[in-house]
Amino acid sequence: MKKVLALILAIAMIASVAMLTGCGENSGEGNEVEVNTDDAKTYIIYSDNAFAPFEYLDTETNTYVGVDMDLMAAIAEDQGISYEMHNEGFDASMGAVQSGQADAMIAGMTITDERKETFDFSDAYFDDGQVIVAKAGTTLEDLNGKTVAAKTSTVGGEYAESIKDEYGFTINYYEGSDNMYQAVLTGTDVACVEDFSVIGYAIKSGEVDLEIVSEEPANVKGYGFAVQKGKNPELIEKFNAGLANIKASGKYDEILAKYGY
Ligand code: GLN
Repeated sequence: MKKVLALILAIAMIASVAMLTGCGENSGEGNEVEVNTDDAKTYIIYSDNAFAPFEYLDTETNTYVGVDMDLMAAIAEDQGISYEMHNEGFDASMGAVQSGQADAMIAGMTITDERKETFDFSDAYFDDGQVIVAKAGTTLEDLNGKTVAAKTSTVGGEYAESIKDEYGFTINYYEGSDNMYQAVLTGTDVACVEDFSVIGYAIKSGEVDLEIVSEEPANVKGYGFAVQKGKNPELIEKFNAGLANIKASGKYDEILAKYGY
């Protein structure tokens, strides 16, 4: 009996609040009932800034475009993820996630066992490996006694470290892929190490007049979306669910096709 009374009282209270708040045009700010429609947080996501076709500045629209940008947007739409994208460079993205300044990164980032010690990764969404790139006519023998460009914090840098003694070169590190290509084009370095599909895209589009010197891409592995280890596990779950959905719907293929895959 008491319970019923309490219930009636509660209903009456709600009804009177509703009447008060909804009672007409003159009630001003009072009729603005705060409905909590979106309690999801806005995730801060970092990315590279010169890594076409995955992320690069479209100078016509002055926005960052690319496979990663489109995948993230499609997955976010599918999963109701709210996010802010910051295209700051690869090393900066790694640092931002590790320091907690960013919630996640999507930057053509290779999933490696070593990185798994400090990052949690989504399922792989693309496979790639590294190649050595130089001016036309350069051979691997030409690297001897010279400097080779690599990008800070990348697996390309690790690959360069792993073969430098065999080929007799030393390594110069650069923050951006664009700086690295420039160093080879101007002759500062004899070659550079880059992800196959990225340099392939740059060569095909005519943007850089270089060619691939090594035969096969080395260390082919998946690219993944990453968070700091143990943090934002829900975001990895949502990314994976969204990725599966856009693969099933054909949206994933559509995005890759847009960038020539
Ligand atoms: N795939 C490479 C890595 O993970 C390069 C990524 C990049 O330069 N954006 O190290």
